[in-house]
Amino acid sequence: MADISIEEFKTQAEAFLAANAPRKEAEQKFVWGQGSDKVAMFEEKDKADEAADLQRACDWRAKKFDAGYGWISGPKEFGGSELPNAYQRSFDSLEGQFQTPNQSYFTIGLGMVAPTIAVHASQTAKDLYLKKMYRADIVGCQLFSEPGAGSDLASLQTKAERDGDVWVITGQKVWTSGAHYSDIGEIIARTDPHLPKHKGLTGFIVDMRDPAVEIRPLRQMTGGASFNEVFFNELRVPDDHRLGDLNNGWNVALTTLMNERAAIGAGGGGGGGLYTRIIEMTRHFGLSDDPVTRQMLANLLIHNKVSGYNNQRAMDKIKAGALPGPEMSMAKLAGTMNMKRLGDFVSHVLGAKMVADSGEWGTYAWSQLILGTPGGRIAGGSDEVMRNIVGERVLGLPKDAGIDSKSPFNELKVGTQTN
Ligand SMILES: Cc1cc2nc3c(=O)[nH]c(=O)nc-3n(C[C@H](O)[C@H](O)[C@H](O)COP(=O)(O)OP(=O)(O)OC[C@H]3O[C@@H](n4cnc5c(N)ncnc54)[C@H](O)[C@@H]3O)c2cc1C
Repeated sequence: MADISIEEFKTQAEAFLAANAPRKEAEQKFVWGQGSDKVAMFEEKDKADEAADLQRACDWRAKKFDAGYGWISGPKEFGGSELPNAYQRSFDSLEGQFQTPNQSYFTIGLGMVAPTIAVHASQTAKDLYLKKMYRADIVGCQLFSEPGAGSDLASLQTKAERDGDVWVITGQKVWTSGAHYSDIGEIIARTDPHLPKHKGLTGFIVDMRDPAVEIRPLRQMTGGASFNEVFFNELRVPDDHRLGDLNNGWNVALTTLMNERAAIGAGGGGGGGLYTRIIEMTRHFGLSDDPVTRQMLANLLIHNKVSGYNNQRAMDKIKAGALPGPEMSMAKLAGTMNMKRLGDFVSHVLGAKMVADSGEWGTYAWSQLILGTPGGRIAGGSDEVMRNIVGERVLGLPKDAGIDSKSPFNELKVGTQTN
């Protein structure tokens, strides 16, 4: 039982926030043509701005951690406060009332990598990394996808070979978000090619600053470079940095992926304040009485509402202590389909103004969102893969026929497998 009541906790947390961050001003009514018209899906910062932004984010996390709010539900052993989840939710909701630095740099590290370390790492690795991650002394990334293994992750070919007490990792990962500012990464590598493809994999924690790790940025069609390809040139990793048992990497990966879908699902039905913008946009361009436009808009808003409720249902299940399940795949799919609908609607209203920069407020700016949306439809499991999961695990349809989970990996014709 917590030795502080939730009311007392909230009073103290609010006092801490008030002393360290400005309170948000009352929400101002959105007026078309006023303020920023930025609606991008991905932050597109240059390296200097990104480094300064990251430093502000780390400073804020460290301040919270030192005051006891960095890992409210976490074990005291790693600097947590060991309070029930409800206390964390109360803090998050209070924090939302204050202007605090962008915390998206920690979505992967704290939303996916740290929970995996907490479940699967050795005591040495937990002691080394958990506290530092929650205090933002270090940042973590996820090294799963490879050029030939994305949806079909179990086909990955990066290998880890044992050499006494260390593992030697060789291979290439791709699409690694934030690798360029991360200190550690969670990698899944093949440790036994003679076993079926899901069975010969093992997870490790790697040092992203080691000279044997080469990080090259990838330019996106939005113009930014928030993810990378990462090459491992015989990186040496101590055995106490292994995650879970040898050849049990598929279960380690599943722990991370379940948390990934929960983290993405927690983002909601897709859109938030964007909907106010598109309603005002419709009025501004004189289409609010056009029956086709009205029909499209109503359809969009209904889908967003339904997706929001479904998402809330899935998150409530997790908050009640259940593991993230196939509902998260439904929530992810619904969210990204709504982003696609939103893009179609904006294209319908703006037409050529969205693709040619005329300088007019609130028009060309939408192209950043439209160009970013496909990224959301692929990251964390593509729409098609989400549909497979919903078909198999929710509707009980037969399993995807393309998978061979019995033959040894080294006897498979790589590139012909599907997940
Ligand atoms: C913004 C963004 C951030 C990312 N960040 C990371 C990261 O930090 N770390 C990381 O490891 N990875 C990351 N990824 C990679 C991401 O996980 C993969 O892109 C994703 O799993 C898809 O894999 P792929 O790109 O290899 O496409 P493929 O798997 O080659 O898929 C190509 C197409 O085939 C379809 N397809 C594939 N299999 C099936 C099937 N069985 N049934 C029906 N259709 C199928 C897909 O839906 C897709 O349309 C990121 C991706 C994006 C876009």
